[in-house]
Amino acid sequence: MSTTQSMMGLYKTAKGPGNMELRQAPVPEPRPNEVLLEIKAAGICGTDIHIKHDQFPYWPPVIMGHEFAGEIIQLGSQVTDFKIGERVVGEPHTKACGKCELCRTGNIQLCAQKRSPGWGIDGAFARYLVMPTHLLHRIPENMSDEEAAIVEPAANVVQDVLERGKVEPNDTVVVIGPGAIGLLSVMAARAAGAGKVIVVGTAKDLPFRLKVAQEIGADEIVLADEGDAVAVVQRMTDGRGADYVVEASGSPRAIASAVGMVRRMGRISQIGLTGKPEISFPWDAAAWKVCTILFNLSTGYTCWDRTIGMIASKKIDARKVITRIEPLQNWELAFDDAEHARGLKALLIP
Ligand SMILES: [Zn+2]
Ligand SMILES: [Zn+2]
Repeated sequence: MSTTQSMMGLYKTAKGPGNMELRQAPVPEPRPNEVLLEIKAAGICGTDIHIKHDQFPYWPPVIMGHEFAGEIIQLGSQVTDFKIGERVVGEPHTKACGKCELCRTGNIQLCAQKRSPGWGIDGAFARYLVMPTHLLHRIPENMSDEEAAIVEPAANVVQDVLERGKVEPNDTVVVIGPGAIGLLSVMAARAAGAGKVIVVGTAKDLPFRLKVAQEIGADEIVLADEGDAVAVVQRMTDGRGADYVVEASGSPRAIASAVGMVRRMGRISQIGLTGKPEISFPWDAAAWKVCTILFNLSTGYTCWDRTIGMIASKKIDARKVITRIEPLQNWELAFDDAEHARGLKALLIP
């Protein structure tokens, strides 16, 4: 392997909406503490859609893609703890400084210096990617490359719903928004022993997404646009409210409704983003609920191996959220799908 070889990469070429194209790029050379990965599968994330539309920070020209599975094909000169041929996933926290308060307290994912592959530095929508070894996690033999590409988004869910949201046995859990993150949340909550799981969607989710929700263990489906979702949740819980609400829709109306759904002293986890500078929120009603609202961003160390184990054991069945697999050159089809919420997770194979 040498830098004279080249590869195709899906670039965000410049600031502004759009500005995406496949371009020739040199194959990167691993530094002493890095490995070169051959990317086997890479997922399209809501973040990629935001980058496409100029709604998320990024440093162009940059190869996009931060959710990936790869095989190690070259070792940097100082790498001793990984071998060629091992299959891995990687935490997208490259360039975290290691010195700031957040890094020193184990939260490198929130370091201001961090530059993730896919928006800060070149990412995984290309055949090859370099990664520092301290961010890698091995994946077991019984996990496919496609399932492994779901580890990153699932790790977000495992952190947000299990580690921070702390689902307890028999909890009544409401998941608002049946996209890939919402449905991964349903499976995570089920695995943690949730009692009743209620999924809130809209009529457009009925033909496909809410069917999958039922397959993976949602007990009740509520259509927010065809009635009063708060009243339905209250009725289903005999007026008590849900122990825990996962907001994975980013809809301002849904966010406000979470306060009406949660029980007194219950928990609400934010996962969805609104894309707006501010929204209207029932502050006093939340105060009367004495509820805890948990905000979330990115993935800490502990959720990665936990997620890999849960996907390997099918407690989280990653296959349920993979609805499209395309070669890299068909990226526009896959992005279009993701953007119009037609399927769940689309993967690109570079
Ligand atoms: Zn993502
Ligand atoms: Zn730092």
